[in-house]
Amino acid sequence: MEYDLIIAGGGPAGASAGRAAALRGLSTLLIEKSRFPRYKPCAGAVSERALASLDFEIPPSIREREIKGGRLFVRDQCFERTLDRRLGIIVSRSAFDEYLLGKAREAGLDVRMEERVLDFEESDDHVSVRTTAGAYRARFAVIAEGAQGTLKYRVRRRDAKDEFGICLVTEIEERNDIISARLPDIIEIHFDAVAMGYGWIFPHDGYYSVGIGSFASVAVKPKEVMGEFLRKHGFVSRSRIRGHLIPVGGITRTVASSRVLLCGDAAGFVDPLTGEGIAYAIRSGQIAAGVVADACAGGKKGSALARYPKLCRRDFGSNLFYALLSAKIIYNSPGTFYKVLSADTAAVDKYLETSIDRQQYRRYLRWLAPRLPRYLLTKKRAMAPPAT
Ligand SMILES: Cc1cc2nc3c(=O)[nH]c(=O)nc-3n(C[C@H](O)[C@H](O)[C@H](O)COP(=O)(O)OP(=O)(O)OC[C@H]3O[C@@H](n4cnc5c(N)ncnc54)[C@H](O)[C@@H]3O)c2cc1C
Repeated sequence: MEYDLIIAGGGPAGASAGRAAALRGLSTLLIEKSRFPRYKPCAGAVSERALASLDFEIPPSIREREIKGGRLFVRDQCFERTLDRRLGIIVSRSAFDEYLLGKAREAGLDVRMEERVLDFEESDDHVSVRTTAGAYRARFAVIAEGAQGTLKYRVRRRDAKDEFGICLVTEIEERNDIISARLPDIIEIHFDAVAMGYGWIFPHDGYYSVGIGSFASVAVKPKEVMGEFLRKHGFVSRSRIRGHLIPVGGITRTVASSRVLLCGDAAGFVDPLTGEGIAYAIRSGQIAAGVVADACAGGKKGSALARYPKLCRRDFGSNLFYALLSAKIIYNSPGTFYKVLSADTAAVDKYLETSIDRQQYRRYLRWLAPRLPRYLLTKKRAMAPPAT
C-alpha cells in the first residue's frame, strides 16, 4: 500500500501532523520508536500559545497545574508577579504526548509503535521508508524525530555548537501541599544559575521538575552546575539526571526537500530564550500536514512543499526572531534585564505575557523600546519578597 504521508516520530510535532493530515482525509502512517507512555526530558510547561493551537481541550486529568505567574531571579534579586490570567499549564510529557497521539488516532491516523525509522529515500514520485520492521512507501514524509535523531540530516546540515543548547533535568518528588505552598500557580526561573541560560523549578503533580539549560557553545561542566543548583535549593535527586539537546536559533535551517518536511525540534523550531518548543512543534506539524494535503489534492509535484518554510515563517517566524533578539539582550546583558525588571512591575508582567500568543515577543519589545532609556536610568525599586 502507498500512503499519502508517513510521519517519523510521535511527539507533539508528529502527533499534530498526524491529526491534521487524518482530518484532511490523507492516508497517514505514524511510526514511533518508543512504546507510549514514554518518558521525555522536559520541564512540562505548555504555554497558552500552544494550547490555542489545539482544536481540542487538554483534560483536567492531564493539566497538573495552571500557571498564572513567575518568580524570576536575576542577579540574586527576586521579581515575582501573579497575573489575573493563565499563562499556560504544567503537564507530564508521558501523559500529554500520549493524549495528543490518542487524538490523532481518533481522527484516523494509523500508528505503529516500537518501530524505528532507520532511513528514507526520496524519488521523483514517492518516498521509501525503511524501519526496524519493514519497508513502506508514501507520497510524502514528515520527520518529527525530535532533537536527538539523525534522519533530519538527509534534509539539512548538522547544527554548529552555537545552534543548540544542552539541558539537564530531573524530577524531585514532593507532597502536593508543600509544592503548592512553595509555588502557588507560578514557576521559578533562575537566570543567575548558569551563563547564557537559566535554571528552572516547575511545580508538577507530586514532583518538581528541576533543571538547567544553556547554549552548548558556552556550557562549562553542566553536571557540576546542576549539582550546585540542586544543593542551593535544598533538593536531593533520587531520580536520574538526564541530559538532552535542544535546538536554538529560530527559523534558519533548511526544513523542506522535494518530498520530505522537518517539523518541531527536528526543524529547530524552539524559542532560543526559554527553550519552549511544544507550541512550535504543534504548529509546524499542522502546517506541514496542510501543505502535504494541498500537494496531494492538487496532484502537484513535490516542489509544492516549498511553501512550508514560508508558511512557518509567516505563522511563528517573527516570534522566534524576536525571541532570539530578546535572548541576546537578556543573556549578553543581564544588567540591562535586571534594570528593566527593577524599574517597573509592568515590565515583569509584560515579560511573563510573552507565553500568551504567537506575536507576543514583538509586542513586548515594542512596548519596552520607548521605556528603555527611562528604565535604565531609574534607581532600583523594592521588589516582591523572595520565596519562603
Ligand atoms: C530538558 C528540556 C526541557 C524542556 N522544557 C520545555 C517546556 O517546559 N515547554 C516547552 O514548550 N518545551 C520544552 N522543551 C522543548 C520540547 O521538549 C520540545 O521542543 C518538544 O518535545 C518537540 O517536540 P517534537 O515532537 O519535535 O519532538 P519530541 O517530543 O522529542 O518527539 C520526538 C519523537 O520521535 C520519536 N523518534 C525519534 N527518532 C525516531 C525514529 N528514528 N523512528 C521513530 N520514532 C522516532 C521519539 O521517540 C519521540 O517520541 C524542553 C526540552 C528539554 C530538553
